[in-house]
Amino acid sequence: MFEKIQGHQTITSHLEKEIKTGEVSHAYLFSGIDGLGKKKTAREFAKALLCQDQRDKGCGHCSVCTQIDHENHPDVKIIGPKAGEASIKISQVREMISELSIKPYSGNWRINIVDGAERMTPEAQNSLLKSLEEPLCYNIFILITSHIQSILPTIRSRCQSYHFQPLSLVDLETVLCQETDFDKNTVSEVVGAASGSPGMALYLLSNSEIQKERTHFLRELYSLLKGDEIKVFTLAEVLSKDKATSQAILEFFIHWFYEVSLLLEGHPLPNHGEPNPAHRAYHHLLENEKNQAIIKTLFEMMATIQYNVNLRLQWEKCFIKIMKIQKG
Ligand SMILES: [Zn+2]
Repeated sequence: MFEKIQGHQTITSHLEKEIKTGEVSHAYLFSGIDGLGKKKTAREFAKALLCQDQRDKGCGHCSVCTQIDHENHPDVKIIGPKAGEASIKISQVREMISELSIKPYSGNWRINIVDGAERMTPEAQNSLLKSLEEPLCYNIFILITSHIQSILPTIRSRCQSYHFQPLSLVDLETVLCQETDFDKNTVSEVVGAASGSPGMALYLLSNSEIQKERTHFLRELYSLLKGDEIKVFTLAEVLSKDKATSQAILEFFIHWFYEVSLLLEGHPLPNHGEPNPAHRAYHHLLENEKNQAIIKTLFEMMATIQYNVNLRLQWEKCFIKIMKIQKG
């Protein structure tokens, strides 16, 4: 049943065993960075529990499995932040709770999935806690989070916890080559920036040409933030070749870090934009204070390049400063 899940064999075999032995828990916590397949695993688990054709396995094509894939099965409730909203509102959690006493429509279980559980307000988490403490026998909760520290300890302690690890570069490359039409060279270019996340790699791969250039520079900057000092000089050299590119990339960097700061502060993105896997991966790399200092440094650079300056030297100074900020 979990054939569609890339990696995470230890977790999927545990889940398989729990179903076979009838030792299914009432609450699970799936944690790990975005794009690793946590929600997909939750869906496959639901199929294995509810499929009428292949009990304990999930056939993947009956009406139950199809409904679960389309997220409209009456016994599988999924909530997450609504489009343009930063958090999961208490009203959404209350609605989920109000349905817990309804007997399952077709199978033996009602599965309640909270996607982005770290984005539940503390009030919303507290209102869910009581249901976790006194579960009705047919209810299963699966909380999915990319930021386990934001989940109340009282909630964590009531869940069976599974931590999803990023894929190794080799595994990620293999998966992308098998499952997409991109050639090996294109795939190789993105795997390093994808933090071991297939979801993020796909996002990077599906960008347009301009986006590809931006993604390239962002990836270089990302390496720099992770401590690759050589990037200070290689990036400065490439960016100093022409002023227009310098300006465009600088604007892009500022925009990017601004969006990251919105996410770090829990605000929605402008124009109801959804954070993509890349946003999420970067925002875990940064702290709000450092991010603000980086934005300030980029604005200073913007002010500087209006003048006839040595672009290469200015970029080097800017990147060295950013590196120092990140190192703390
Ligand atoms: Zn099925």
